[in-house]
Amino acid sequence: MRSSVDFYEVLGVDRNASAKEIKKAYRALARKHHPDVNPGDAQAEQKYKEISQAYEVISDKEKRAQYDRFGHAYQQARASGQAGAQDFGSFVYEHFGSGSFADIFGDIFGEVGAGAGRRRTRVAQQPQRGQDIHHQLPISLAEAITGGEKSLTLTIADRCPECDGLGGKATTCSTCGGSGVSQQSGGFFSFATACPQCQGSGEVITQTCARCRGGGEVTRTRKIDVNIPLGVRSGRKLRLAGEGGRGFRGGPNGDLILEIQVAAHDFFKREGDDIRIKVPITFVEAVRGATIAVPTVDGQVNLKIPPGTRSGQRLRLRGQGAPRLGGKGRGEQYVEVYITAPRKLTHEQRELVDKLAETWTEDPRADLPQGL
Ligand SMILES: [Zn+2]
Ligand SMILES: [Zn+2]
Repeated sequence: MRSSVDFYEVLGVDRNASAKEIKKAYRALARKHHPDVNPGDAQAEQKYKEISQAYEVISDKEKRAQYDRFGHAYQQARASGQAGAQDFGSFVYEHFGSGSFADIFGDIFGEVGAGAGRRRTRVAQQPQRGQDIHHQLPISLAEAITGGEKSLTLTIADRCPECDGLGGKATTCSTCGGSGVSQQSGGFFSFATACPQCQGSGEVITQTCARCRGGGEVTRTRKIDVNIPLGVRSGRKLRLAGEGGRGFRGGPNGDLILEIQVAAHDFFKREGDDIRIKVPITFVEAVRGATIAVPTVDGQVNLKIPPGTRSGQRLRLRGQGAPRLGGKGRGEQYVEVYITAPRKLTHEQRELVDKLAETWTEDPRADLPQGL
């Protein structure tokens, strides 16, 4: 480690820089050069060590004053290999260097995310917002089309309310007295390392929680009323603020995010805002035309079958489809008709069909080839 570099230069700050300016400069540099951001980049790692070393000294009022006064003396001491100067300023990297990027910034800047129920070795001191919980919300096509209130019962794993997800009782660390810091005297300077007992959190977990048996997580079943928007489609997400994972240490709860899954219907098919349905008609209705009752999402309506209608023909019922989301009108319903043959005929019907066949001259297969 090059120690001859001026710490102020390393951080790119003025010698009169305020603590706030120093922290800001360090934060920007550390983010840029952190080994997690630059995997395998030895130069970045070296740079990161220098930044951490410089920050460790310049951010500490006492050490900064000493460095300002004895900067050269410190360097000489180090050059001659005197004990005490060896570890000067390097603890930040030595201690935190093996942690993840998030760990480091969480520890230094208090941004540790508290995962619901996850067992944590390091205790975050600050209240944390609970996690957002994602869940599927299966509904029927009818519910999607009509919208409205729906009650559902959810069983979710959440942070144990007894131990706040810590798995036990958090008590002040007796080794460091809660400061999280272990002071070590190294000759010319004294320096601090994170307390080995509590990993710098100032707290240790004692007495395994009886409620969650130390897992930090409990399942709970809740009844939730949710408002289904009129005309909603699969994939739409509904956010219920504050209904998600419990907050940590009095922090706000996360949100519950429900993803709508509209079940397929046996007869009604939805395509966008339109509804499609297949409806059988008799040969007689197809030939002569007819008015038939067909199902729609609102119940039966009359549909006119024109004379000479063929199988597969699509007829439209204007405005009988699904409501458009946001209440702006409705889609169409398309009725695809197909012709069915009767399974049974009376003696009289049989005679009539025979008579019809004798008079039949049209060949519907006239245009077909004889083979490939
Ligand atoms: Zn401790
Ligand atoms: Zn518990």
